[in-house]
Amino acid sequence: MYGMGILKGLGVTIRHFFESYAEDIRYSGRRYFGAKSDFSERQGIDTRGVYTVQYPEEKIAVPERFRFVPFLVVNDADHPEAPGEDWCTSCGICSKVCPPQCIWIVRGEDPVTKRPIPQPEAFYIDTDICMNCGYCAEFCPFDAIKMDHDYELASYDRTTYHIHDKARLSKPFSYWMSIAPTTANEEARDRGSWEHSDVVKEKKKAGGAAVAYTPTESPAEVLALLKANAPKPEPEPEAAAASTAVASPVAGEAPAAEAADGEKAARLAKREAALARKRAAKEQSGE
Ligand code: SF4
Ligand code: SF4
Repeated sequence: MYGMGILKGLGVTIRHFFESYAEDIRYSGRRYFGAKSDFSERQGIDTRGVYTVQYPEEKIAVPERFRFVPFLVVNDADHPEAPGEDWCTSCGICSKVCPPQCIWIVRGEDPVTKRPIPQPEAFYIDTDICMNCGYCAEFCPFDAIKMDHDYELASYDRTTYHIHDKARLSKPFSYWMSIAPTTANEEARDRGSWEHSDVVKEKKKAGGAAVAYTPTESPAEVLALLKANAPKPEPEPEAAAASTAVASPVAGEAPAAEAADGEKAARLAKREAALARKRAAKEQSGE
């Protein structure tokens, strides 16, 4: 019969209208008083009626998959091996896939060799252009860029303030875990470790093992795992020399190691000299 859909829709509206008053009476006095406010209960999916949130004094908790402008994951300041290190390798994939092209990356370079290194020197996102699509986070092969939950970014300055630089974009891994524990666990499970995928590879190459993935939703537990598996600090040089002198069973082992170090230093010096010659020739030719 024609018009049934309209009547059904109106029925839903009328039900919400009456339920709003019924629920207000039921929760009366519990909005701001008492140990257990009704606010957390009435944000749930089972809530009935219409409920007014007194923003900005009250804020609705966002779901874990909520996405606002991206941020960059870095190691925590108390990471045992590489505090504050970027997870981003400046591969540039995120800036290529970004539909409105609002990501700028400057790849870092080795100060001596001037060769590119897998770290961003600068990273900018124009948050006025970003459309919060989340492609960058989806495509990043290193789990280094994530969608944030912080939606209160309004300001009176829409020129520079809304262009987030690396310092503003960088947030510790523990923050990522606190806002999205399920996704952080899924990603760590897929990497097989709580560490960055490059660290996992390096440790494997060196014959060691990275911190294995253990399910947890607590960033503190992850940090404890990292600390427990961190390499022990090097002994003091004097103590090390004494222990080598006592422990080394093969005569001439220490001189052999020194000779290897000397060879390596000579090779590096040779390479530096060649690079310097190359740079000088380039400058002379005016390239
Ligand atoms: S895709 Fe990931 S690792 Fe590559 S530049 Fe973007 S944030 Fe960095
Ligand atoms: S969320 Fe989308 S628009 Fe925003 S920076 Fe990432 S890819 Fe670009």
